[in-house]
Amino acid sequence: MIIASEAARITENFYCLGPSPVPLFLLDGDTPVIFDAGIYLWGPEYLKSIRTFIGNRIPRYLFLTHMHFDHCGAAGYLKKMLPGLQIGASREGRDIIDKPSAVALITRLNAFGSNESRTFEQFTVDRILEDGERIHVSDRLSVQVIKTPGHTRDMLSYYIPELKILMPSESVGVPGIGDHIFSEFLVDYDVYIQSLQRLLHYDVDYLILSHGTYYTENDAREFIPRAIEQTAMFRDKIESLLALHGDDYDTIARIIKQEEYDVLDSAGKQPESAYMLNLNAKIKTIAKITKKKDPVGALRQTADARNDAL
Ligand SMILES: [Zn+2]
Repeated sequence: MIIASEAARITENFYCLGPSPVPLFLLDGDTPVIFDAGIYLWGPEYLKSIRTFIGNRIPRYLFLTHMHFDHCGAAGYLKKMLPGLQIGASREGRDIIDKPSAVALITRLNAFGSNESRTFEQFTVDRILEDGERIHVSDRLSVQVIKTPGHTRDMLSYYIPELKILMPSESVGVPGIGDHIFSEFLVDYDVYIQSLQRLLHYDVDYLILSHGTYYTENDAREFIPRAIEQTAMFRDKIESLLALHGDDYDTIARIIKQEEYDVLDSAGKQPESAYMLNLNAKIKTIAKITKKKDPVGALRQTADARNDAL
């Protein structure tokens, strides 16, 4: 695992624009492309890094993976500062950012307790990116769009075949301590697994994750199989806790949090409120499929497990 903490060249034509834990990435070519837009607060930092690598040339595109506040935060700012920059996202992403309630939430989450009057600049999506589409960047560089929902419904991953760079954002989870990978199926477990399985087929030399880390060569190739394995294990864990505690999601969340969150160093870990929000979403995602598959069995299992525990 390599930490992408500041603006640096990763490989030919491909740069990290920093800073960690929400860096952007840049692919240079005839029509340079930026990937993701981090948080609003760091807009000027990102801009400075873009100028470091491509001078006064204006990137043609900003491709967003999904409309979470820490992935699209500076999109409006960058569009304002880089005239002509076109923002690309999925159709679902476009629909989210056109909703005033989503804009209000993203604005609030980008405030970080600051007193600034402006914490987000609204933007519109200029180009809808379709699954399988390939965008020309230069004679020997292109970007392929891969639809990978499951973490969110609007999620897109990007692949640069000529450089074997895959940018799956949180479609593959987020690395924790040691070998641990946080599974990030916020909206749909089965769809999340299907997306991981799709991503398995890409030949990768660089696996670029969203929150300041990336992997190369064998580490890059081994990550997605590990993520699939750990996602299934995490599901089993939630299922056995559901069998024991039924609808008491708070207790289940507390047990999981002790094991995977409380053990982390405070430096660099996501805020507890964000972690809990996501964890609750994952527990509910699993509860939903457990009940749907076998509603009577789920009830009986809960009763049995409770009796065993008594
Ligand atoms: Zn996200």
